Amino acid sequence: MQICRTVKEMRALVDEWRANNSKIALVPTMGYLHDGHISLVKIAHTLGDKVVLSLFVNPTQFGPTEDLDKYPRDFQRDVDACEKNGVDAIFAPTPDEMYAKDFSTWVTETSLSLPMCGVSRPIHFRGVCTVVLKLFNITRCDAAVFGKKDAQQALVIQRMVRDLNVPVEIVTAPLVREADGLAMSSRNRYLSADERERALSLSRGIFAAEKLYNKGERSASVLIAEVQKSVEQANGKIDYIVCNARDTLMPLESIDRPALLAAAVYFGTTRLIDNVFLG
Ligand code: AMP
Repeated sequence: MQICRTVKEMRALVDEWRANNSKIALVPTMGYLHDGHISLVKIAHTLGDKVVLSLFVNPTQFGPTEDLDKYPRDFQRDVDACEKNGVDAIFAPTPDEMYAKDFSTWVTETSLSLPMCGVSRPIHFRGVCTVVLKLFNITRCDAAVFGKKDAQQALVIQRMVRDLNVPVEIVTAPLVREADGLAMSSRNRYLSADERERALSLSRGIFAAEKLYNKGERSASVLIAEVQKSVEQANGKIDYIVCNARDTLMPLESIDRPALLAAAVYFGTTRLIDNVFLG
């Protein structure tokens, strides 16, 4: 496995691969890898002859009061996990390598980025789209894998790729959970034992709402209330709970088309997200 720290190193490697007609699949991550990330790597192996995993805590997708500095990092652990799972190359640049001092070009998706996480994190998806397009250009990947854990992100990236004719196939991967239901996230490590216990109310609420949907309930507000009840009982502070149309992310009253029930909730200072696709 190769570890590339610079754009030049990564480019040299992908040029060599492409000269041999190898297909390249990319898994973009911010590191501190868990089984959710590894599930993406497994899918990437089915899409390309060479798998690149990028490890980059992208500063431009964090707001000024967010957790950029304390975001968990463990490079050696990530290298070991990649090695074990047959990753061909890690791309792990520094922020200076990715962003020139006078960097001034941004990719802004102006519709799907606005609701949900876009409300409390107004610059988030601009940072995500910009870094993802840069990663596509640097790795010259044929395909890239994104998790449905970040459902809005996956939709925004799909829209960007369609709108800008980016020649990369976007594949989405199922949300991977801990045995007790908590959605796997690098941020789970911030949780104290008490917060970890209370955080389960989020997945429990989502599952309870999904069950109601499967029994025939079609009122969005009833499903939202089910999640709300669960997290409020556990003292979670709600950022949002929404039931939106899956393609437009516009709010639904009645769930008469494929929908996304999604929530962002704080337990202590840790903001967690979870979701389920309905229909
Ligand atoms: P992150 O490192 O949190 O930026 O995530 C990198 C990629 O892994 C994104 O496409 C995420 O959606 C995906 N991912 C993170 N957690 C999970 C999970 N629990 N299940 C599936 N995919 C995930």
